[in-house]
Parts: sequence; structure tokens; C-alpha cells
Amino acid sequence: MPIDATKSYDDSNIFARILRGEIPSKTVYEDEHALAFHDINPQAPIHVLVIPKGAYVSWDDFSERASAEEIAGFVRAVGKVAREAGLVEPGYRLLANTGRNSGQEVPHLHVHIFGGRPLGPMLA
Ligand code: 5GP
Repeated sequence: MPIDATKSYDDSNIFARILRGEIPSKTVYEDEHALAFHDINPQAPIHVLVIPKGAYVSWDDFSERASAEEIAGFVRAVGKVAREAGLVEPGYRLLANTGRNSGQEVPHLHVHIFGGRPLGPMLA
């Protein structure tokens, strides 16, 4: 079920639990502002999720409430993860689903990084 991106943050969501170390994930990168880990159900040869450490429901929530330092740290982390995965030269795609029409399932902001093959049309 897609989430309602207008609701307040629910800290029982699965990515909050990953951040607290309550459930495992395959970590790719971590710093003060962000955690990156492999998607459990990859849609491409490389499919990594990058999440901010702060409690933000969606891109909308993050872009409205996060500090300039959190936003800069998160954006830099997304770029660094893709770069360190060797994706700059072959190319990659970023995706941040937000709310019902996008099909967002987890109510903690996450940016998908897809790569490792030609990714086809932008929308299915
Ligand atoms: P959304 O549809 O919200 O943009 O994407 C949620 C993503 O989270 C999906 O690609 C799904 O496979 C992934 N996911 C859901 N639960 C888990 C989990 O427990 N661990 C990991 N690593 N990924 C998850």
C-alpha cells in the first residue's frame, strides 16, 4: 500500500528500524548524514537505497524541514555512493518516490540508485 506523504513521521517504519540497528541491512556507505544499503528486492544489477539519518517521511518533508547541512550532506552522500560504485561513466538513475501516485511504500525518505545496465525508458 502506498503511503500518505502528508502524514507525520512514524518511527516504527522499516528504515527507521534499520537505522537503529534493529534489523540487518547490507551497508554500502555510512556517514553523519546518510546510510546507504542494498535494496532487498533489486530492480537492476546495482540497486542501492540512500536514506537520511534524520526522521523525514519523504522528499517533500525533507526539502521543507531539513537543515542546509543535512540537505548538503545527504545530496553529497548520494553522489558519493554512485561514484564509488563506478556508476558515473556508464551512467545511473536516481528515483525518490513521494506519496500515493508514486507508489512510495516506506515512509522514510529514500533515494534509489539504479545502475549496471541500460535502464530503458524513464517510466514503465
Ligand atoms: P519505495 O517503493 O518506497 O520507493 O521503495 C521501497 C524499497 O524498499 C523497495 O525497493 C523495497 O524492495 C525496499 N525494501 C523494503 N523493505 C526492505 C528491507 O527490509 N530491507 C531493504 N534493504 N530494502 C527494503
